[in-house]
Amino acid sequence: MLPDATLLHLEAWSVDATATQITLRVRSTQATAPCPLCTTPAHHIHSHYERTLADLPWAQYRVSLQLCVRKWFCRNRSCPRRIFTERLPTVAAPWARRTLRLAQRLIALGMALGGKAGVRLGHQWDLGVSRHTLLRLLRKLPLPAWPTPRVLGVDDFALRKRHTYGTILVDLEHRQPVALLPDRTAETVAQWLQDHPGVEVIARDRASAYAEGARQGASTAIQVADRFHVLHNLREALDHVFTTSPQAFDAVNALERQQPVVLPDGVVAVPVPPPAEPPTPAQQRAVQRQTRRQALHTQIWTLHQQGWTGAAIAQHVGLSLRTVQRDLRTATFAGRKRRSDVGASLLNPYRSIYQSL
Ligand SMILES: [Zn+2]
Repeated sequence: MLPDATLLHLEAWSVDATATQITLRVRSTQATAPCPLCTTPAHHIHSHYERTLADLPWAQYRVSLQLCVRKWFCRNRSCPRRIFTERLPTVAAPWARRTLRLAQRLIALGMALGGKAGVRLGHQWDLGVSRHTLLRLLRKLPLPAWPTPRVLGVDDFALRKRHTYGTILVDLEHRQPVALLPDRTAETVAQWLQDHPGVEVIARDRASAYAEGARQGASTAIQVADRFHVLHNLREALDHVFTTSPQAFDAVNALERQQPVVLPDGVVAVPVPPPAEPPTPAQQRAVQRQTRRQALHTQIWTLHQQGWTGAAIAQHVGLSLRTVQRDLRTATFAGRKRRSDVGASLLNPYRSIYQSL
């Protein structure tokens, strides 16, 4: 049950039922100890001292090791270290307050659940640990060594939205993040690429900083616009076209409907456009609303060009910040999606004839 029975000898133990604690008095038994500086085995003991190490709990009892370790003389004359404390690498790290196996369990807990949830489950399992200790253990872990990716994805991420941004680098072939950079400047990306040669393809958004960073850091790499941003840009462009040119689309539709149609019996039917109807009161109100909204759009752009911030414009014109930001994306007034079209039919003008039959 000891962390390493080949190095440790159990001398005594005691159970404190009220404190639910088991204390084990343990002695190190190794006959020699290598000097940590020159690795010469030492044979002469200088003194003893006691370390207290927390170990894995036993049922609901906390376990504490009172470990008696020794200091040794290094007799290698060329070694600057005269006296050293023996290391027990299979038991605990030097100066650690818990055994290696307890630390490994806490790290596994923190890796799976993070700080708060890790602490909650830890308490259920009688592993008393604070959130800060758990996170400190995780941060002390060495970073896993990743080979430099061949195909690298570069994108920004928000540490605090609209204020602070960093850069995330992703190995696109293994779908694994490989680095987080503290900002999104060309220099930082270029520096990382220079430190990690071998990237052949860089997928990025269309911001100039990453293009420049990639050019400086990996001049031979092929730069491609990543699929997300290509589709995103396409969607925005189509959205712009469809919402800003409704008259053009209406004209095309109208022309299309007037094309002659050949019927199955060979007769050519020429569609007759329906007689123009006077607008309904609801349609008139919609037109008025649209005109008012158009005027607001113009005002938003005028204020924007005068240097007003989005928030100030929103307050001034009485619209939400999101709406103002959407307006500022396109200089042409997009108008509302025409919900009144829902249920509209080409047959509507002929409905009265049908009903009179
Ligand atoms: Zn030495």
